[in-house]
Formats: sequence, structure tokens, C-alpha cells
Amino acid sequence: MVCKYKFNSYPYDKKLYQLTTKTMEEIKEVKTVMVDYKCPKCKDGYLRPMGSVLASYPPIYPHQCTDCDYAESIVGKMYPYPKYI
Ligand SMILES: [Zn+2]
Repeated sequence: MVCKYKFNSYPYDKKLYQLTTKTMEEIKEVKTVMVDYKCPKCKDGYLRPMGSVLASYPPIYPHQCTDCDYAESIVGKMYPYPKYI
């Protein structure tokens, strides 16, 4: 197959060129933190996913406390998760 496409022949070529070659790409150092969820009932354990997911949009993750029987379904998040600041 012959490629008929020529760079710089149309106004949108420059944009396409930048997208494909990532000429404006920058690398920055970020700090990583972990976000955890302490149990609101016993205030001692942490909520952990039970391994199942309700396939809604956004997904719902059932969590259970590591120390007591407290359970909570959390929308769109699975604890603990990393956060970049
Ligand atoms: Zn608990």
C-alpha cells in the first residue's frame, strides 16, 4: 500500500506531527503517597476490598474492615491506592 500522506501539506499536519512525535513531552518528578481508609466503626482497622466488583459505571467495590465486621461499598475507589502529588 502506498502512503499518499505528506507532512506540512495541510494546516493540521503540524498538530499531527506533534502528537505522533511527542515534541512537547516533559518529564517531571512527582511525590507518591498512599491513600487509605480507616474504619469509621472501630477506628482501628482499615477497609480492604472483598475481591468482588459491581460492574456499574463507575464501578462499586465492596470493602470490609480488617478488624471488625464493618462493610461498606465504595464507588470508583479501591483502598489503599497510590496518589501522585
Ligand atoms: Zn472496623
